[in-house]
Amino acid sequence: MKENALMVSKTLAEVGRNIEPGITTKELDAIAEKFIRSLGAEPGFLGYEGFPYSLCMSVNDTVVHGFPSNYKLKEGDIVSVDCGTRYRGFYGDSAYTFPVGKISEEDSRLLEATKTSLYRGIGQAVPGARTGDIGYAVQSYVESLGFSVVRELVGHGIGRNMHESPEVPNYGRRGHGVKLQEGMVICIEPMVNAGRRDVYLADNGWGVHTTDGKKSAHFELTIAIRQNAPEVLSTFEFIENNRN
Ligand code: MG
Ligand code: MG
Repeated sequence: MKENALMVSKTLAEVGRNIEPGITTKELDAIAEKFIRSLGAEPGFLGYEGFPYSLCMSVNDTVVHGFPSNYKLKEGDIVSVDCGTRYRGFYGDSAYTFPVGKISEEDSRLLEATKTSLYRGIGQAVPGARTGDIGYAVQSYVESLGFSVVRELVGHGIGRNMHESPEVPNYGRRGHGVKLQEGMVICIEPMVNAGRRDVYLADNGWGVHTTDGKKSAHFELTIAIRQNAPEVLSTFEFIENNRN
């Protein structure tokens, strides 16, 4: 699980190094697939329930599950890159929302809030806590800043399958939901909208978009539940310190 988490983390950094105005999301998908295979792994998303690409590329008002396309990223866009790997029978899954060139202050606030809400959620991921404690931590932080949390999609357990129980919603009530136990591995992945929380499904059956057309951000890390403190298996360190 740890090896998968690190491979996904490094792939996201490789994609991030190539994000600039003018590149298409399909070109970035090809870069990711090549990189994942160079590590000896397979793209975890490719063919998963029929998904036709290695990455989910969700630009601006796309919340998650966007198809890579011939769309050329432009200055001021934000793009959520969600990546999976499969290696030695296990899965990795993490996501990061990148700014393209210079973005507005409002969009920077959205990215910061979403990432911080993820860490708030991780802080609750200890044995005996419940998934509702994670959801509450994410939701209360996000809503205190005037943003909203998408409820139609949730985090999840991960292991020999990409999506395992329990579901890990980004909203909830303290003390409710599934009890976390030592040894569980979960993905926490807040999807945060700048405007209203409502979303709709695109005609291709995959892309999830904000109904009001405002932007949405998405960050995801993989966490092992340990006795004393959460062990965060994937990392944004390669992205943010620009190393590999
Ligand atoms: Mg993901
Ligand atoms: Mg996930």
